[in-house]
Amino acid sequence: MSTVVALIVAGGSGSRAGGDVPKQYRDLGGATVIARAFDACEGVPIHIVHGEGHGAMLAAALACRQPASTTTGGATRRASVRAGLEAIAAAGGADLVLIHDAARPGLPPAVIGRLTAALAEADGAVPVLPAVDTLVRLHGGHVGATVPRDGLARVQTPQAFRFAAILDAHRRWAEEEEPTDDAQVARAAGLVVVAVEGDAALEKITHEADFAAAEARVAATLVSRTGMGFDVHAFAEGDHVMLCGVRVPHTAALAGHSDADVGLHAITDALLGAVGDGDIGHHFPPSDPRWKGAASGQFLEHAADLIRTRGGEIDHVDCTIICEAPKVGPHRETMRAEVARLLRVPVARISIKATTTERLGFTGRGEGMAAQAVATVRIPCA
Ligand code: MG
Repeated sequence: MSTVVALIVAGGSGSRAGGDVPKQYRDLGGATVIARAFDACEGVPIHIVHGEGHGAMLAAALACRQPASTTTGGATRRASVRAGLEAIAAAGGADLVLIHDAARPGLPPAVIGRLTAALAEADGAVPVLPAVDTLVRLHGGHVGATVPRDGLARVQTPQAFRFAAILDAHRRWAEEEEPTDDAQVARAAGLVVVAVEGDAALEKITHEADFAAAEARVAATLVSRTGMGFDVHAFAEGDHVMLCGVRVPHTAALAGHSDADVGLHAITDALLGAVGDGDIGHHFPPSDPRWKGAASGQFLEHAADLIRTRGGEIDHVDCTIICEAPKVGPHRETMRAEVARLLRVPVARISIKATTTERLGFTGRGEGMAAQAVATVRIPCA
């Protein structure tokens, strides 16, 4: 089994698409352009090359997604790719590498499959689409001869290569002119590069109009779903409770098979409910000794992964913690940040609230705590 890594090139300043920030860091229907490219490559280690001084902007755009490495790129795309390849080599290398532009947020898994399959027979593979428009030569604004379309294709990314071969090709590049893609670097080194079928969803965002088209493509494929969750745990002897992933000192603990985090359990059930995928007990049976004393953050991460692997996006989570004590207010912002980190979304999408039940019922008598949550997600139409 070959090891695969992804190299996402995000070095551009992207001024042609308008806006205040480079296009790869702009929101595209609920997630940034680069976050969408990142999620499409998920499952393999992802290395990112960013522009000079763009480290903080990149981290914010990724919203808790963790790349294997980030590297500052060079003055040209070629220099940026070279820097990324060297970073991957320094991290131990790989058998195959997918070199991808951050500005192509839509990457169907089938394209990755075609590319890696093609590398069984070739050093490199690139996705292409046929040139469908009539092509002409221009002479100072005048239309000249029509260029036959036969044998012409538009080349997209990711471009896939045997890692050692493309690293060597980049190290040996000595041409005066800058290459427009990595296939050109590969061919200059004598590597065999084959074409596989590309996909319209891979269109590059270059101009403002491309942004609108990409947004429409994303919006058209997603529907909004809401799920709810509810959880209760009884108090037992102890000196702290875990609430939304945060350790809160208290005169009692919560009893449970895992760490008994009512907040995270309610949110996990809400997320599972939104995608109609059972409940927390179904995914993490209390009868399984693996979950004894488990940190509930992993339940939440699992639910978020289920949504992402379906191409979904978590839009919002609202959780209400119900108890007389401990006080939630002093920990609220820490809890929001922790839930956002676990779900890999901006903090603004997380709401944590608290209420008492006016000393009524089991929570009012201080026998335990409850939490309820609502989650809104957008997922591809079933
Ligand atoms: Mg529970």
